[in-house]
Amino acid sequence: MSPAFVRFRSVLYRPWLLATIAALACAALLLSASLGLIMHQVQQTEIEQMNARGERFLERLEQIFGQLRESVDELDEQTVRGCGPQMLAVLQQVGFDNRFVYDAAYSDGIEHCSSRPSEQNADALRAPDIKGPTYSYWLNTSTQPDDNLAALRLARGSFTVSTSRGHLTDVVDLAPGGSLLVVLDKGTRAIPVLGPVQAWPPSADWPPPAQQPLVVTHDSLIYRMFTKSPDYQLVLISPRTSVLPKMNQALWALFPASLLLSWCVGWIVLQQIRERRSMSAELQGALRRGELKVLYQPIFDLNSRRCVGAEALVRWRRPDGTLTSPDLFIPMAENTGQIREITDFVLQQLLEQLGQLLRANPHLYISVNLAACDVMVPRIGRVVARLLDQYRVAAHQIAFEVTERGLIDVVVARDNLQALRDVGHQVLIDDFGTGYCSLAYLQTLPVDCLKIDKAFIDALGHDAASSGVAPHIIRMAHALQLRVIAEGIEFEAQALLLSSEGVNYGQGWLFAHPLNARQFSELVTRGRRMIGRRMDDEA
Ligand code: C2E
Ligand code: CA
Ligand code: CA
Repeated sequence: MSPAFVRFRSVLYRPWLLATIAALACAALLLSASLGLIMHQVQQTEIEQMNARGERFLERLEQIFGQLRESVDELDEQTVRGCGPQMLAVLQQVGFDNRFVYDAAYSDGIEHCSSRPSEQNADALRAPDIKGPTYSYWLNTSTQPDDNLAALRLARGSFTVSTSRGHLTDVVDLAPGGSLLVVLDKGTRAIPVLGPVQAWPPSADWPPPAQQPLVVTHDSLIYRMFTKSPDYQLVLISPRTSVLPKMNQALWALFPASLLLSWCVGWIVLQQIRERRSMSAELQGALRRGELKVLYQPIFDLNSRRCVGAEALVRWRRPDGTLTSPDLFIPMAENTGQIREITDFVLQQLLEQLGQLLRANPHLYISVNLAACDVMVPRIGRVVARLLDQYRVAAHQIAFEVTERGLIDVVVARDNLQALRDVGHQVLIDDFGTGYCSLAYLQTLPVDCLKIDKAFIDALGHDAASSGVAPHIIRMAHALQLRVIAEGIEFEAQALLLSSEGVNYGQGWLFAHPLNARQFSELVTRGRRMIGRRMDDEA
């Protein structure tokens, strides 16, 4: 590992710094996730309100237009003309009979009279906004927000009827700054019925596809409504001013909650790091006090059932007798860098305990597990060379197991593994199948043997999808001329099946648990054949 990386790791490994980073990351994540959620909800509510508002306006407008048409038809059909008292009575009667008729008027160019004589009639002089064969329409006849002023006017012959703004807005009002528009001339012209004039077209991608009634832009919601008449559509435009205040409100509610939660996360991270730190300090003490032991799990030739070697496995038995699993302290030691000391310790122990046995049995080998940091630098080669020299053991009697996960930088690892092979060591890929080694990738690695992970051995003979993985790995290994070791064999049926598939070697509780040096030496020197017998874990 490069010194810069080690320095960077030691800076990062400060508990307070890590806890603060975790708390800040948690707060940022929580706040952004909740704000995103609130924004989405506010938008959904806005859209739903807009849909409801649009539908109600459409319904009301069709009611109003229908009634205005009926009233003006009725006026046009009756026979009274001129502005006499009879006409005034007719006009007033239409107003009484029809709820939406706010004003009815007669004008023949000479005379003008209305059911509301006080009403200003300047707009009537304006050319109609829509001129149909029968009816003429004036829209938005007053832009003032006065409910009593006319908003829609319809004329036939000499008669005009109008409705007030109040009739349009009594079911539902417009949002401030919003407009209700009538869109004419095949969508090219829009006249406001309610609210201010709006730029037309209202968005760059107008008109939307036929089935999409709502367009959402960053500052407005635009709702299009098809009417029964092909000549015009209605469009409702509402400004999107409601999101920000609601977000602000939500932020104030969320801020303390997120702060509390991230404080909790920071605290938990701090405790975890402290726990790991204290474990790492304990491990340091354990190494000093000799609480670590090395056991050897025998590896057998599956055909002859003779022991060909063993895997060195470390154990930590505390003074109170409790055993700490390597699965717990090895990953931690890998993080703190203490794994180097452990690897050295295992090598030292095995040569010290089994040096004589290895010298006497030149075909026997012991394999040692290496961590990622052992593979990334050439240090381990020097350590083992010194020990082999000291104990006069051949390099081919020490094998090294590396996991696929341990090959962080394949190029560097390849050089270091090749250097180990060059002096005679065997290199094994451990837990094969659980990492990311592909066939193409495997071809480029300097390895002698694959160890199939226990999970695939367990699956053998089951219907599970993974049951076919072990035979596949075996075929692959044979194609690459690699030997295969199956680990975690617990049943005779597994051993037989693996042997019939061409697997040469195996280890597992069927044959033996990890043994101490004395038990392992006994097993080898007596040449005990492990058929139907099993030796137990001494630790
Ligand atoms: P691993 O290298 O895959 O070691 C095999 C593990 O499977 C060992 O667990 C062994 O006791 C267990 N095992 C063997 N046969 C059977 C079986 O038939 N059934 C079951 N259920 N288990 C079986 P252990 O000793 O607890 O080691 C766990 C892991 O800790 C090892 O997995 C290895 O990754 C790591 N480890 C152990 N010792 C060392 C060491 O000295 N250095 C390094 N770097 N890692 C080590
Ligand atoms: Ca192993
Ligand atoms: Ca393994």
